[in-house]
Formats: sequence, C-alpha cells, structure tokens
Amino acid sequence: MMADLGLSTSTSSSDIAGSGSNELLTTEDENQNESCEPCPKKSKIQEPVASSVCLEERLNGILCCTVCLDLPTVAVFQCMNGHLMCAGCHAHLLADSRLRDENATCPNCRCDIKETSCVRNLAVEKALSELPTECLFCQNKFPRNQIAHHQNSICKERITGCRYERIGCTWRGPFHELHGHESECAHPIKTGRELIDVITAIDAKSYGESTLYRNIFDLLSFQKIAQSDPQLKPYRSDDFVTKLFYESARFSAFGSQWVMKATVSEDVKDPSLISDRHINFSLILKSRVSSPLDIHYLVLRGPHSNYKIKPAIYRHEFTHDTTEAPSKRLMVEDSIECNRILSHRVINLRVLMFQVSKD
Ligand SMILES: [Zn+2]
Ligand SMILES: [Zn+2]
Ligand SMILES: [Zn+2]
Ligand SMILES: [Zn+2]
Repeated sequence: MMADLGLSTSTSSSDIAGSGSNELLTTEDENQNESCEPCPKKSKIQEPVASSVCLEERLNGILCCTVCLDLPTVAVFQCMNGHLMCAGCHAHLLADSRLRDENATCPNCRCDIKETSCVRNLAVEKALSELPTECLFCQNKFPRNQIAHHQNSICKERITGCRYERIGCTWRGPFHELHGHESECAHPIKTGRELIDVITAIDAKSYGESTLYRNIFDLLSFQKIAQSDPQLKPYRSDDFVTKLFYESARFSAFGSQWVMKATVSEDVKDPSLISDRHINFSLILKSRVSSPLDIHYLVLRGPHSNYKIKPAIYRHEFTHDTTEAPSKRLMVEDSIECNRILSHRVINLRVLMFQVSKD
C-alpha cells in the first residue's frame, strides 16, 4: 500500500476526504465551514443506517491512517489539524519531502508537517490497541494489544516447527498436531552419520556471523583507533535535476581531516518516486598524506539515535590519489528503516576507524 505513496498522495487525499470513512469526524468546527447545510448533517448522524455497520468497522474508518488507510500498529502521529497517520507513512512523508526539497504537507489538509510539529496521539494509539482483530490462524477475534501473544504462544492453530528442526526436520504444522508429529518424528533416532551434513550446513550459517564479531573484537585491539560521531546534514547537488546528498563537517582522525558523505538510492534518477530506497555512504580523506593510510572502519548508529544498522567491517587504503573510499550501502534492515533515518533532519552516525600499521 505504501508503494505509490510518493506519487499519489494528492489523489489519495482527495479520495479520503470524499470517502465515508471520515464522516464521524464531522465535528463542530468542520460544520462551521459548511454552515450552509447544518440540518442534513445532524439528521445523518441520527440515521439508523449507521448501526447496520458495526461499531468496530466504523471506528476502523475513523482511526485509520489517512495515507495508507491501514490501522496503525505502533505509533500514531497527527498533523496540526488532527489528521492521523501511521509511523511508517509519517516517516515516508518526511523522507519524500527531504528528497524533493520541499516541505512535507498533510495529505488531507495540506498543513506543513515537520518532525517537530507532528505529535503522537496516545488516546488513538490506546483506542486502537483495544480494537478487536482476527487471529491469522484460528480467525477468532482478540484485542489488538493481545493478538501477538495469542498468535505466538496461545493459539492452537498457530504454525509451529518440530523441536528437531535443528537436526534437519522440516515439518511445519498447526500446534495441535505438533505433539503427534514429534512422537513419530524420524530425526531423533537418526545416526550421527546421517545427521552430520545437516549440522555442517547449520554451522556454516552461523560461522559467518561469529567470524564478523571475532574480527570486530580483534580490531578493538589495534593500536591506532579513532572514534568520531559525524552528523550528516542534507544538501542539494547543483546538477540540472538537483539531488539530495548528506555530508558531515570535517572531523579529525590519525592527524588527518575526514568527512562522511551519504546519498539516497544514487542509482535512481529520482529517489522520491521509488519506495524501495537505500542509503549509501563513503568516507573521504580531506588531508594530503605522504604515505598510504590503510583503514578499517565500522559505521554504527550515532549516540541518541535508534537506527538499526547491521554490523559490517569496511576497509580502504587511502592514498594521495584515492582519497575517497568506494561508496557502500548502509546496512539497514529495509526501506522502512531507511525512510525512518531520512525522516530526521540529520543522520547521526558513529565511525570507528582502525589504522592498520605496516610493520
Ligand atoms: Zn499509513
Ligand atoms: Zn491535516
Ligand atoms: Zn488464534
Ligand atoms: Zn520432526
């Protein structure tokens, strides 16, 4: 549903404004705007037809996000005029506006939306958490604040895996059949010879991860380590079609000056038109060096930010001629996380640099 957000906010907003979903929001102040026909409005509210649609569905229409029309699952934001949007759409609007270099506006009322002007609506968040929703597995209804617990640990129809999954059993089935399966499962009576291939494959999977962490741990014993917390601020390129990029102020490490640069989906002409975005960054040496600097570096979230960046080690040899490390993808979970990062005014990162000594 989010896919065409960048393109169609204006159409969706007029759809929303015209749809019946917001009828119950017709408050007194909206009536003042349309004071020419107050009577039909009043009689509309008293119409018995409304009761034919259950309260739950009517509330869904009122409390849904004005952008994607889904019911928000976590935070609910509202514009200055009270129009609601889910956290994902809120971040997406801010990211879009950043990419287009214009102010974000509420798709409903066109008022400005800034990081600071939108507030959470806790009452709506709480009301939503009490609304019933259907279990994916048994189709019974539960309050939304209980559904995760029900689906993960209570529901008899929830899909589970065999306890011998770790030694290669691929059985998946409803929880109420699990006991029966496990008592007949062939895996626990397999021999070591039969199981060794499966275990090797599982080991290989976790090997990559543990190697990464071991390498990071080793880096921390390097003699020359520098840490800085660059704040990447948004700028526009002076190309014909200006593009957003981010750049930090200079920071020093190992007696040289450095900056960090970031771009958004640099392979795409207009990233504001696509929904699957990513952020690339590069580390740039700004000082002249007489001998090459072989640098390992880690990029982490900055202090007081809560981006989810996956760990990775980068390496580049900075010389007189190659002062810019190749641009690398910032390892974030997905495009939603990317929008969340872009929705803030600056990108706060932490860079740990390790100088490899030649001797
Ligand atoms: Zn939404
Ligand atoms: Zn609004
Ligand atoms: Zn269930
Ligand atoms: Zn099994």
